[in-house]
Amino acid sequence: MFSDITIKRDIYQSDEHQMVQQAVTEFLKKEALPNYEKWEGQKMVPKSFWQKMGQQGFLCMDMPEIYGGGGFDFSFNALILEETRKMGVDFGIAVHSDIVAPYILNYGTEKQKKHYLPKMATGDLIGSIGMSEPSAGSDLKALKTVAKDMGDHYLINGSKTFITNGYVCDFVLCACRTNKGTPEEGISLIFIDKDLDGFTTGQPFDKIGAKGQDTCELFFEDVKVPKEKLLGAEGMGFKYMMSELPRERLTIGIESLGSAMGVLEKTLEYVTERRAFKQSIADFQNTQFKLADCAAEVQVYQTYIDRCTALQVAHELTTIQASIAKLKASEMQGKVVDECLQLFGGYGYIWEYEVARAYAAARVARIYGGTNEIMKLIISRGLFREYYLAKKAKARMASSEA
Ligand SMILES: Cc1cc2nc3c(=O)[nH]c(=O)nc-3n(C[C@H](O)[C@H](O)[C@H](O)COP(=O)(O)OP(=O)(O)OC[C@H]3O[C@@H](n4cnc5c(N)ncnc54)[C@H](O)[C@@H]3O)c2cc1C
Repeated sequence: MFSDITIKRDIYQSDEHQMVQQAVTEFLKKEALPNYEKWEGQKMVPKSFWQKMGQQGFLCMDMPEIYGGGGFDFSFNALILEETRKMGVDFGIAVHSDIVAPYILNYGTEKQKKHYLPKMATGDLIGSIGMSEPSAGSDLKALKTVAKDMGDHYLINGSKTFITNGYVCDFVLCACRTNKGTPEEGISLIFIDKDLDGFTTGQPFDKIGAKGQDTCELFFEDVKVPKEKLLGAEGMGFKYMMSELPRERLTIGIESLGSAMGVLEKTLEYVTERRAFKQSIADFQNTQFKLADCAAEVQVYQTYIDRCTALQVAHELTTIQASIAKLKASEMQGKVVDECLQLFGGYGYIWEYEVARAYAAARVARIYGGTNEIMKLIISRGLFREYYLAKKAKARMASSEA
């Protein structure tokens, strides 16, 4: 599709990429699309589907083979995310494969890697990440869940909210206050397994979109967690989160791109079939201009997202680049899906139509993973930092020349 207007996507050119793309598309058509409406009603994708994804090798593709992963690079994860969203299949795979698994690989002990990663790759263990709390979302440092040091274990009390995969998961990687040092230094990441006494969840939230992705509250009441479940070093949780957030934000950009691409394809199909005033909707100049604009937007953001994906593969993606990817791709997704929905007329407002679902799902991309306002804060801080550094360097040069 769009071969005349799409700039060749260098990162996806290999035979392996082409094979994975074809395999995941066929798999989703067979295993996800016929069931997706039912899963939306259940507000979650069943574990059996995760396991089927695992059997096909579509989970944790970039984890090393010794830990059960595919041994591929991040571009394969990106491809899976793009394809799932392109087909309108929305579930917490990014949280599982692209957020939780990398934390474990990058900071976990050998024992933790061997325990969690192989089963995450097969879908036998589903992971979630618990940062947000009822009174700490954007302001993460304000989190209150406490992990009290009891010698050989932590005693955890508190709650988390809006947790993707929270209901279906087998464990949460939970940001807790271990109460040493500054608010920032007092945060640690701790694995809390679902079967521990005192760990309960709320019912999945009734969301306006992305209904197949379960999102719920988690509650911890005197949960005893062995010390060996600490991820990395105590008090380093905030630093770990900051270093992993660029990847999380890029994955949101990739999903936004995938969704916009899928909706654009469906809209092209629809407008050529639907007729009004004895002509197809596609014959109206307004339709042509709107779709030209949408295709151009998708193309421009695809180029930027692909570049960021390549940077992530090389472990060179910066916080600011990832924030730009998340900010702009999610805005683009909102705009493109909205324009496309309009071209469906009344049908665009009906849940049965994928464009209606995509419209509702698109909204959250501007909220989670750090809101778009927080992305702007990060970008502007970087902008001014660069400006002042350049100014200082100029002043130094001028004084050394004088
Ligand atoms: C479907 C869904 C899935 C999610 N999944 C997860 C998950 O798996 N794990 C997890 O930990 N969290 C998850 N979240 C939580 C999400 O990351 C937070 O909702 C988000 O970070 C915003 O926090 P908040 O909702 O508390 O909003 P608030 O922080 O209360 O913000 C409210 C408004 O104020 C604005 N605002 C806040 N601070 C500033 C500022 N300094 N300058 C300007 N504006 C500001 C915000 O941009 C926003 O518009 C999920 C959320 C949703 C909706």
